[in-house]
Amino acid sequence: MKIPDKGIGKDEVFAKLEEFRKDDLNWRTGRVWAYTYDAGKDIEEVGKRAYLEFLSENALDPTVFPSMLRMENEIVAMAAAHVKGDANTAGNFTSGGTESIILAVKTARDFARATRPHIAQPEMILPDTAHAAFTKAEAYLGVKAVRVPVTPETFRADVDAIRNAITDNTILLVGSAPQYAHGVIDPIEEIGALAAERDLLFHVDACMGGFLLPWFRRLGEPVPRFEFDVPGVTSLSMDLHKYAFCPKGASLVLYKSKDLRRHQIFTCASWTGYTMVNTTVQSTKSGGALAAAWAVLNYVGEERYLEIARHQLQATRRVAAGVREIPGLRVLGEPEMNLVSFTSDEANVFVIIDEMKARGWYVQPQLAFANSKENIHLSISMQNVAHADAMLADLAGAVEAAKTHPPIDVSGLAGILDGVLANDLTPEMYANLLGAAGITGAALPERLAEINTIMNALPPKLRERLLREFVNDLFTPATE
Ligand SMILES: *Cc1c(COP(=O)(O)O)cnc(C)c1O
Repeated sequence: MKIPDKGIGKDEVFAKLEEFRKDDLNWRTGRVWAYTYDAGKDIEEVGKRAYLEFLSENALDPTVFPSMLRMENEIVAMAAAHVKGDANTAGNFTSGGTESIILAVKTARDFARATRPHIAQPEMILPDTAHAAFTKAEAYLGVKAVRVPVTPETFRADVDAIRNAITDNTILLVGSAPQYAHGVIDPIEEIGALAAERDLLFHVDACMGGFLLPWFRRLGEPVPRFEFDVPGVTSLSMDLHKYAFCPKGASLVLYKSKDLRRHQIFTCASWTGYTMVNTTVQSTKSGGALAAAWAVLNYVGEERYLEIARHQLQATRRVAAGVREIPGLRVLGEPEMNLVSFTSDEANVFVIIDEMKARGWYVQPQLAFANSKENIHLSISMQNVAHADAMLADLAGAVEAAKTHPPIDVSGLAGILDGVLANDLTPEMYANLLGAAGITGAALPERLAEINTIMNALPPKLRERLLREFVNDLFTPATE
């Protein structure tokens, strides 16, 4: 495939783009319980219009585009006030939670280099429930991730386990408000006290909850303290492209002070081109996401955000209670936000997911890890509220169907796996595993229970290795 000799014309371009879309998950139906956040057509339109109006501005250089600087400083101020920052709070707008987290880890690493230069191999302590983005930060930045178990049943960070994992190399503690998998909030005050006592930095991952939980508290929910007023908290990440309903590419990383944030900033005057100053990972970046976030926050306003939060809270209560009523299902932990996960001891959850898919619902699989059994995750967003009862009715049917499904036997994997654990994965082993899962080529089958059950039975390192192989094949340049 090559660039066409002659351009194909506008109509054909857009017809093709529309055609490409036909197999995408249709999030507008309200039947998708992950990935998308939609609180109304008018909000979407405001975000899109602002995005397009600032699409071509370059947020690379705020002295050339002062509008970018102004919008970013206003958004950071609004966010800081929302999570109880003070006049010293500093922060930046980023492309997403992952970038916010990578920057927070980079800042912690460079702060440690400046203040504790004897540390050769810095470490951060992560509860098992801390987001994968921290492991990505480990891979990118060389800060060793030390994962520690969370409390069984509650899935909250175990403060004693964190304390016991602290070494002379520890530079950063991490807690989540809430953690993604089970939607429960770590004991931020206790971890903060530990961080203060040991003079360590402490990042609160509030990518999910930073924006929404303060509204839940105002609605009367007993939301524990997790914000900047908790002693010991030094940084916090908070996504706007989740429950602030801003278009994707919108998150914030906030710090206790500019003294700390200084270590986030990258400058380079040691080359022949323009002097580079970057607050974030990207350099040239569209002003679209920033303008859209500014527009949506100002357009929606507190009153409506509170109303949206109320609907999501009520729907979450309904869903959690409804799941508990379905024989054979068990909710994991006590969800404190609008994220609910549940498992089954009587049916294969991956079969339940396939059965839900057959009924027109997308719900998310989560594989077993540490003391968390394989489960189904629901993010209950505004677009799902009106569909909660219909979803629960179909879920009950899906569970009944899954109970009668023949067991998926993965014992045949054992022989293949012995070799894989001893050596590295060879192409033959990979082909064998795919064959065992009924996969040929890069296309996934309609039903995923087999592959999910196999993945679930594998050690996490092997899952990662397999996924890398799969995706390495998936992204193959098109031939026609
Ligand atoms: C979504 C999320 C992230 C990662 O954010 P992205 O925007 O997907 O990069 C990190 N932490 C938590 C708790 C999240 O929910």
